[in-house]
Amino acid sequence: MKFGTKAVHAGVHPDPTTGAIMTPIFQTSTYAQVSPGAHKGYEYSRTQNPTRFALRDSIAALEDGKTGLIFSSGMGAIDTLMKILKPGDEVISSDDLYGGSYRLFSRVYEGLGIKFHFTDMRKVDNVKKLVNEKTKLIWVETPTNPMMNIVDIQAIADLKKGTDILLAVDNTFATPYLQLPLALGADVVMHSVTKYLGGHSDVVMGALVLNDLELAEKLAFLQNSAGAVPGPQDCFLVLRGIKTLHLRMKQHCENARALVPVLQDHPLVEKVYWPGLKDHANYEVAARQMKDFGGMISFVVKGSKEAAFKVMEKFELFTIAESLGGVESLVNHPATMTHASVPPDKRLELGIVDNLVRLSVGVEEPEDLVSDLKQALEL
Ligand SMILES: *Cc1c(COP(=O)(O)O)cnc(C)c1O
Repeated sequence: MKFGTKAVHAGVHPDPTTGAIMTPIFQTSTYAQVSPGAHKGYEYSRTQNPTRFALRDSIAALEDGKTGLIFSSGMGAIDTLMKILKPGDEVISSDDLYGGSYRLFSRVYEGLGIKFHFTDMRKVDNVKKLVNEKTKLIWVETPTNPMMNIVDIQAIADLKKGTDILLAVDNTFATPYLQLPLALGADVVMHSVTKYLGGHSDVVMGALVLNDLELAEKLAFLQNSAGAVPGPQDCFLVLRGIKTLHLRMKQHCENARALVPVLQDHPLVEKVYWPGLKDHANYEVAARQMKDFGGMISFVVKGSKEAAFKVMEKFELFTIAESLGGVESLVNHPATMTHASVPPDKRLELGIVDNLVRLSVGVEEPEDLVSDLKQALEL
């Protein structure tokens, strides 16, 4: 089945009792049992909920995975995966990374005795050098946030082949429409469903998708033990959002493609980061592992932080806000917003300068976005 058809149909079936075409919102915490222990597979909604399971099956199908788990946030998903580790274990992680992931790794799990190596994964050799018998997990984010670096998933998967090291990929920026990490050799795919999968800036949610049913069972145990589950109403909203994922992604990519040349040609713009640019350091890898280049663009405004702020404040259609992946265009200042939890010297090392601006290009008409960008750059 092709992707767009799966987006509309996968995981969802008409309700067997009424024929309702939309998966009902099973707004219930518990389920009746005819006799103690005799039930229909549903006992308590932290453990099982039909609306959540429909969404699980939908997202798993989109990622070409056997199964998955849905969490109350992207961070809840990452946190649950990290709980499979033990003190003394080591993780190799992308160095340019979602600020919240960096915070969880460096300020929570480091303290629990897990060692993290943050490295530039654009060079696979950097990863290779860090692998040792204590390595249990490789954490890849690609494209990275906010620098739009591209990591070669298949090359990293090849490197750990034959070991019991898990390769997990944060696929939030690309979505399964653009990139399928499991097919490239990853073991676990993670999503902040909050972003493109939800797609309408109205829900915070996370997901893991995988093929290893034994690991899935372990993760379900951890999720049920710790409790990071979403409510059924939110699951319903995401089930609805996913039906248009392919249409939205097409438009996000097309709109980004219309905006990039405006930025490139502009005297007030020093540098543009978008994986679809031929001069992007990993353009070849992006073109190979992604279907298109996505709707996220970062750029450096010539001058200071104040110049960047001025441009941001001048936008009329792009709203200054955290988050990304919704139908409406947003503009973000990573150094003070999404990446404030990354130490300043570390930020500079990664290229997250004070005049860096990140766009989440929405699905509005490209002409309107182009005019808005042009007028915002007229200082
Ligand atoms: C937002 C985000 C997360 C965290 O997800 P939440 O849903 O906000 O908890 C993780 N990774 C990336 C790339 C993100 O953009």
